[in-house]
Amino acid sequence: MSEIIDFHAHAFPDAVADSAMAKLQAEVPHVPCYLDGKIDSLLYSMDDAGVETSVLCCIATRPKQYESILSWCRQIRSDRIVPFPSVHPADPEAVERIGQIAAEGFKGIKMHPYYQEYILDEPRLMPLYDRMCREGLILVVHTGFDIAFERIDRGGPERILRVTEVFPELKLVTTHLGAWEQWDRVEEILIGRKMYMDISYAIDFLGKDKARDLIVRHPADRVLFGTDSPWDDQRRCVQIVRDMNLGTERESLLLGGNARRLLAG
Ligand SMILES: [Zn+2]
Repeated sequence: MSEIIDFHAHAFPDAVADSAMAKLQAEVPHVPCYLDGKIDSLLYSMDDAGVETSVLCCIATRPKQYESILSWCRQIRSDRIVPFPSVHPADPEAVERIGQIAAEGFKGIKMHPYYQEYILDEPRLMPLYDRMCREGLILVVHTGFDIAFERIDRGGPERILRVTEVFPELKLVTTHLGAWEQWDRVEEILIGRKMYMDISYAIDFLGKDKARDLIVRHPADRVLFGTDSPWDDQRRCVQIVRDMNLGTERESLLLGGNARRLLAG
């Protein structure tokens, strides 16, 4: 059986995990949580679920968090944990920091239009995307609405499309099957395009049949397994994919083959 890579997981430094998780859970008290937000717990979950590698998505909610996140990413990187540091669009040195992230050998960056208060296709972001392209970095970005925020469109399908038109070479990974709770527009304008989508935090909301329909209509080499752990359970997510009967080839690409290729590139 081929390896499984979770392209979308979260954790925090041990010293702040309890307070970070408490704060996030207070924002969305109805949303279940499966781990305590620590790396050891994530590794335990990975072992339990048969996940070989997790991409650890960090979010700098303020510009000044850049350094501490980067230094934590240096400490935790391993064969099994592939950390993606984060830059904040309001950081005057954001473009240079993207260069530093690449120079230190990290594979990508994570950004989030709601927690970082920006719009996906606003002009301020263009120099950042340009630098990511030139450095060959992957950008995992939260796309679609966010469960913890008012439904103002910051990173919906039209905005995604505009970014990919300006930067066709950007290694952009959209999350939550294109755009969370904007799936009608995803289906209309994004499905079928040469664009990476992770499947995290989407299938339960879409329903298994609809999710499967979108997945099989998207290029087989562009769908990535992701869980949004600790907000979902890795073992359960693997099983949901296996139960979809996607066929051996598509399933193995989704669970790990596509991620391995993207991370190697
Ligand atoms: Zn996430």
